[in-house]
Amino acid sequence: MTAVVWIRRSLREEDNTALVQASEEYEEVVPFYVVDDSYFENADLGYPRVKFWRDSVQRLRQNLQDKGKDLVLRKGKPVEQVGKIVEELNPEKIYFNRDYSPYSKRRDREVRENLSVEVETFKDNVMFEKREILTNSGDPYKVYSYYAKKWFDKQKRRPQKPSKYAVPDVESDQLPSLQELGFEDPGMNVWEGGRKKGLERMERFKEKISDYDSDRDYAWKDSTSKLSPHLKFGTVSIREVFWMAERMKARNPDSEGPKTWQEELAWRDFYLQLLWNYPETVNQPFQKQYQDIEWRTKKQASEDWKRFVNGKTGFPFVDAGMRQLKETGWMHNRLRMVTTSFACKDLWLDWRDLHSYFSRVFVDAELASMVGGIQWAYSIGTDAQPYFRVFNPWTQGERYDPDGKYIRRWVPELGDVPKEHIHKPFEMPEEIQEESGCEIGEDYPRPIVDHSQQREKSIQRFEDVRE
Ligand SMILES: Cc1cc2nc3c(=O)[nH]c(=O)nc-3n(C[C@H](O)[C@H](O)[C@H](O)COP(=O)(O)OP(=O)(O)OC[C@H]3O[C@@H](n4cnc5c(N)ncnc54)[C@H](O)[C@@H]3O)c2cc1C
Repeated sequence: MTAVVWIRRSLREEDNTALVQASEEYEEVVPFYVVDDSYFENADLGYPRVKFWRDSVQRLRQNLQDKGKDLVLRKGKPVEQVGKIVEELNPEKIYFNRDYSPYSKRRDREVRENLSVEVETFKDNVMFEKREILTNSGDPYKVYSYYAKKWFDKQKRRPQKPSKYAVPDVESDQLPSLQELGFEDPGMNVWEGGRKKGLERMERFKEKISDYDSDRDYAWKDSTSKLSPHLKFGTVSIREVFWMAERMKARNPDSEGPKTWQEELAWRDFYLQLLWNYPETVNQPFQKQYQDIEWRTKKQASEDWKRFVNGKTGFPFVDAGMRQLKETGWMHNRLRMVTTSFACKDLWLDWRDLHSYFSRVFVDAELASMVGGIQWAYSIGTDAQPYFRVFNPWTQGERYDPDGKYIRRWVPELGDVPKEHIHKPFEMPEEIQEESGCEIGEDYPRPIVDHSQQREKSIQRFEDVRE
């Protein structure tokens, strides 16, 4: 008998729970992938993410073919394509790994309801899911620190390899090119996907993980793993990266780095369980008291919006972050917090517009972490930054980029501005503007808002709607 493994987000053969399980029970297994048409109808899908996804599917297929196997591809609607493969192959079972977004939940329910064959699903994408970690009164955790304590205490599975299995000859579609999918190369410096790249990143990060606790906030140091798109598309597994950190802990027991890094993995699980338990947060604030706030939409704030996304606000640290994103499809976590806070508390931009933009541009765009991160910075989520704590974009820069190295890298017109003026170039005397070839108002803008005024206004707006 044959089993079909419908692969979705776990774009790897190793430690792919559904595949491992199928290979233990069947000698013949069909790894199956549906290029889901509706994925490409999503207006918030952008080139960096689609390219990364396509690389990853293609390389998984190549990898399997190199071993005399295959990834059987079909393009269309999942419910129809999974139904068709079942009709063609008459497998005993369909296996797949669970997914947690509202769309995936709907898709999987529809597929299950329309299949006559037995379906078995697995936890794979997270360490702990759904309602596995609950408060003592049986509710999902809304505060990370308590959640994390239980997350660390719980036993964790180790990565597994699939057993030997064969893939029968089954007709497969070709993977459409990016052009066929409607995506033109915008000439960005984007990331390559695929497992090999993920394993290389993991290997490189081993050299940095010991210093992660002290270095992670300094964007110019490039001290984080940059594994986020790989975890999103499952080119490496959560277990592989967790146990890598565990081995590094054992190698260097005095270092706090690996534990601090694992705390980030726990944040990822935390947000995924929140999304599963509170799916309405995709477009509503977790804190209901803020649901009637009138944000400025992209249209209403059109000039500010353009300046913000193009990194031309006159706040160097914010601009550097937004330009790193625009040019590479990725932004450092400290900058994600600072720019999002600025979008909220300085520009009062609608968080849903920001969500759309980030979704389109981030290579690692992931619904749960994105909603969690944005709502945190907007002070409207679970365990969010309190509304009266407003990031100061200059002090953030001075603290996390004291010499302006990150700013100079992404805002080249400030390249020759001396260190003492790099965070507030608008205060530069004229002769220094001349010497550094950066005329304020000409080469680099003055701040588009008065930060202290905006701060007061924002606090007031929150107070006006608080219950
Ligand atoms: C406004 C905002 C939006 C965000 N959007 C996303 C997103 O779309 N996709 C995404 O993966 N992360 C998102 N994050 C979380 C975080 O910024 C990125 O995961 C991180 O910057 C990725 O870089 P890294 O892989 O080098 O992280 P590392 O520091 O090396 O961390 C390791 C892994 O832990 C996870 N992680 C780290 N920080 C967080 C966090 N705060 N929340 C949840 N998981 C975390 C990621 O999977 C990451 O790859 C967002 C954060 C904010 C503030």
